Amino acid sequence: MKIISINAGSSSLKFTLFDMTDETVIASGLFERIGIEGSKYTIKFHGEKVSQEIEMNNHTDAVNVLLDKLVDLGIIKSLEEIDGVGHRLVHGKDKYSESVLITDEVVSDLDKFKDFAPLHNPANILGINAFREVLPNVPMVGVFDTAFHQTMDATAYLYPVPYSWYQDYGVRKYGFHGTSHRYITNKVKDILGREEFRLISCHIGNGGSITAIKNGKCVDTTMGFTPLAGIMMGTRSGDVDPSIIPYVMEQEGKNASEVIDDLNKQSGLFGMSEYSSDMRDILERCDNQDEKAIVARDKYVRRIVDYIAQYYVLLGGTDVIVFTAGVGENSVPVRRQICEELACLGVKIDLDQNNKRGEVVKISTDDSKIDVYVIPTDEELMIARDTLELINR
Ligand code: ADP
Repeated sequence: MKIISINAGSSSLKFTLFDMTDETVIASGLFERIGIEGSKYTIKFHGEKVSQEIEMNNHTDAVNVLLDKLVDLGIIKSLEEIDGVGHRLVHGKDKYSESVLITDEVVSDLDKFKDFAPLHNPANILGINAFREVLPNVPMVGVFDTAFHQTMDATAYLYPVPYSWYQDYGVRKYGFHGTSHRYITNKVKDILGREEFRLISCHIGNGGSITAIKNGKCVDTTMGFTPLAGIMMGTRSGDVDPSIIPYVMEQEGKNASEVIDDLNKQSGLFGMSEYSSDMRDILERCDNQDEKAIVARDKYVRRIVDYIAQYYVLLGGTDVIVFTAGVGENSVPVRRQICEELACLGVKIDLDQNNKRGEVVKISTDDSKIDVYVIPTDEELMIARDTLELINR
């Protein structure tokens, strides 16, 4: 059984080809600058990397090149070997609480919901249509970033704003990174060997969100109506007082979307440090006693600790905290700082364990009141698993 996981952006397409008999990655790669001069692809397989500039005017061209190369490079013998295609879809609003077989209705809903994810939903449609054109008989599955969070109750998902904004315009918390938080939840289920547990899943990468999970279901999450909300990120501010927006508009002669753009792209670690959105650069500057970098790092950690504390209370205690994504999986000092600030909840970190890498690493001591793990996320595999399950149903 071979399944391709696809993540289509407006000018890019990422793929991972899995052999689902043992969930191994056969090949993966990136098609970039689609429809722009200098379009190119990179495909990794059997420890090799092939890269080439090639004209690709649209996503259909990219899919054609991808499938040709998979055969030409001997990665698969023929296209018949591909049993299913899973697409990462961003916004399913409150209609989609699970992954689905892709039908015309799903595509039309993605278009209907495009105001909620103006960059992503149209790109997702491009990806779906390209595969439909090139592999018309292969079943396809859509896996929504928002789906896992649909179990939140109204107290979690409603904002304290006029109710008509929700009723008439769909203003509510949707949450994102759901596929990653679900993957982590399933991993914790396997580790603990039970379904009942209170988990705080910290997906901290360039984008970041924290989710509170009880007995396998999301009860709250930090991202909101859009991914701008919640914790501080690489370039996003996370939560701020919305009155800042008209004030800065006035000061800088900008319109609302320009200021929102600043909150999305010029804020977070980048905005506070006036240097970089990458935690590695920030930590290097912290080592050199750069004050802006130190405050940026400390604010970043503070926001995470604030939410963990909030979710600890919401869950009525916590059994497991997981760190995942770029910073969560790789940054030894950031994990240490977060755990040390959680000492009053009984979190104790094992500094040797915190230096280790692996599929699952427990970084808390045996007498820590909460088990803390580092688990690399795998959204692509989650998409492939859902695809396999739905096409076999
Ligand atoms: P995205 O949200 O784009 O998927 P990732 O999850 O790949 O992002 O995270 C990327 C971020 O991870 C980088 O911007 C960087 O800040 C951080 N990162 C990666 N490796 C390290 C490291 N060794 N130490 C600290 N931060 C790291």
